[in-house]
Amino acid sequence: MISELNDSVTVIKGVGEETAQSLNEMGIYTVSDLMEHLPFRYEDYRLKDLEKVEHDERVTIEGKVHSQPSLGYFGKKKSRLTLKLLVGRYLISVVFFNQPYLKGKINIGDTVTVTGKWDRHRQTITGSECQIGPYKKAVEFEPVYATRGSITVKGLRRYITNAFSQYGTLIRENLPQRFLNEYKLMSRKDALHVMHFPASAGDLKQARRRFVYEEFLLFQLQMQAIRKVQREQSLGIQQSYNLDSLMAFIDTLPFPLTGAQKRVVNEILADMKSPYRMNRLLQGDVGSGKTVVSAIALFASVSAGYQGALMVPTEILAEQHAQSLKAMFAPVNIKSALLTSSVKGKRRRELLEQLKAGEIDVLIGTHALIQDEVNFHNLGLVITDEQHRFGVEQRRILREKGENPDVLFMTATPIPRTLAITVFGEMDVSTIDEMPAGRKAIETYWAKHDMLDRILAFMEKELKKGRQAYVICPLIEESEKLDLQNVLDVHATLTHYFHGRYKVGLMHGKLPADEKDEVMKQFSTNEVQVLVSTTVVEVGVNVPNATTMVIYDAERFGLAQLHQLRGRVGRGSDQSYCILLADPKSETGKERMKIMTETNDGFVLSEKDLELRGPGDFFGKKQSGLPEFKVADMVHDYRALEVAREDAAKLIASKEFWAGSEYLPLRRYLESTGVLNGEKLD
Ligand code: ADP
Ligand code: MG
Repeated sequence: MISELNDSVTVIKGVGEETAQSLNEMGIYTVSDLMEHLPFRYEDYRLKDLEKVEHDERVTIEGKVHSQPSLGYFGKKKSRLTLKLLVGRYLISVVFFNQPYLKGKINIGDTVTVTGKWDRHRQTITGSECQIGPYKKAVEFEPVYATRGSITVKGLRRYITNAFSQYGTLIRENLPQRFLNEYKLMSRKDALHVMHFPASAGDLKQARRRFVYEEFLLFQLQMQAIRKVQREQSLGIQQSYNLDSLMAFIDTLPFPLTGAQKRVVNEILADMKSPYRMNRLLQGDVGSGKTVVSAIALFASVSAGYQGALMVPTEILAEQHAQSLKAMFAPVNIKSALLTSSVKGKRRRELLEQLKAGEIDVLIGTHALIQDEVNFHNLGLVITDEQHRFGVEQRRILREKGENPDVLFMTATPIPRTLAITVFGEMDVSTIDEMPAGRKAIETYWAKHDMLDRILAFMEKELKKGRQAYVICPLIEESEKLDLQNVLDVHATLTHYFHGRYKVGLMHGKLPADEKDEVMKQFSTNEVQVLVSTTVVEVGVNVPNATTMVIYDAERFGLAQLHQLRGRVGRGSDQSYCILLADPKSETGKERMKIMTETNDGFVLSEKDLELRGPGDFFGKKQSGLPEFKVADMVHDYRALEVAREDAAKLIASKEFWAGSEYLPLRRYLESTGVLNGEKLD
């Protein structure tokens, strides 16, 4: 029986070889593929009250013809038919383009039903369809489908209609009955039918609700199954660190840990001690103190007899981490080393040999760490900082440099909960949600570009106190050349302005590595007071004496990125400032600037960013790693997502799920995705 739904679409009446080929190109091969090709929107033919219809919205109305239609021609074969229509108490105009034949059909006094676009200002409908006679409630919603090639929406509707009449009764349920009861969900058969042939808005809503839950549950089952497989099959290392020396190490730190730091350290240590491989995401706002957490984890690994590695995306950051870790490890005799592409020749050969011999405990570096020539003696822990900048492949290679080392991903981009449980659904997540005590909130202001003089005066006041400043220029043009010009121009302007008083440095991605290092060094030693830079300083850079940041064209950045940039100041005990130069045109643009001035909380901002820009833009298009849902919307339907996640976790952990016949369709589905064969997404 079931096999019939898996038959080729050619068994559907009206679908020949050629049509089938076009359908194949749309990803539709079988009868069930066709039935599951859902509309992406609906044409709404419900009668509406014109007063409640927005300008430019499509609408269907019923009215009485109030004037004899008049027909005019313009150009060749182009015509315009106009008439007055009485709709309730309103007299409106209706225009039909290029439908001259309507003239003979419409007469004064007739009741007609017109569908078209409502121009609120002109009180006119530009009609696309006209039916003589009162509104008939035959179809309220007409589905509109994505099509390709020779396939038309009309044709597709016909094939789908035929598919339902030939095979509709064969549609099987895939959700356990108890969920259908508990959440009052439509059966799969009914819901599919409604999606294609909706009788009412209420039905459509219920059908949609069912598919939202189904999509989320199937997705979360995959995530939870991956977690289970990872825990059970990928036996990791049991790192028996020495608790006493770990406590002694924590005592050597210059500050007590915050409550949140203690909590995440415990979560990480529990994973490391356990036999399964840690696969954990550590998220914490800029400045929340992730580096010291990574140091503690690395110490634990070394005290258990293993080596640790810390991989970061840029050389600047690698050097900074190397410095701070070296300082922290000095009192406890842990040997750390830095490996970047600038480490060359004899020095490099020696370092690699020491690493292989196990004489280096902790290696810090850029993706130089994942080159073939880099071999560890016994790698136990891999940490990546700002992990979203590394591809999945790079993470995998680093992990494979040891035998199932524990893995910790750190990120300062606070990830909204909805995204965290989808994109990182197979990982455990630790969150540092508390800042070290005594931090002063950064004051953020939004200014127009024409206020630049006042802003420069403000900067000067801060510089006079012995402080330093960042000036950030965005990538404005598609062309690298023009971007470069932008930052060069600003650099020239400021060099001129501060001439003889303060030194202005320049930093951008096109500088050779040694010049970048030189500039950063000069800035961190206060030889340079103002650093004009592109966003290369976005990640992790730590110069506590810098208290002012000016961001040009701030409207061009996402909120999450602005927040990252802003996090470069406010790192010392002095009051810091962030000035956003922006002339946003759109309302959302203005709203984004306002939000920046109102909150310093990265989580609040990231939720807002997600709301304003949508999930696709959140991580940047290319590396979003976001799953695609047909019906569900992660942001809009996030409550259902959370419910589905809980249900999935409970199912995967239960015995019944793996044996009960009620769950067979779900198990089949999991099998078909391949996640159960020990295959991992990452
Ligand atoms: P991020 O999470 O952005 O990587 P860092 O690890 O660079 O943050 O920490 C930011 C600053 O806060 C550093 O100067 C660090 O020494 C300091 N810091 C970290 N933890 C604490 C703490 N518990 N108390 C006081 N200062 C801390
Ligand atoms: Mg950091």
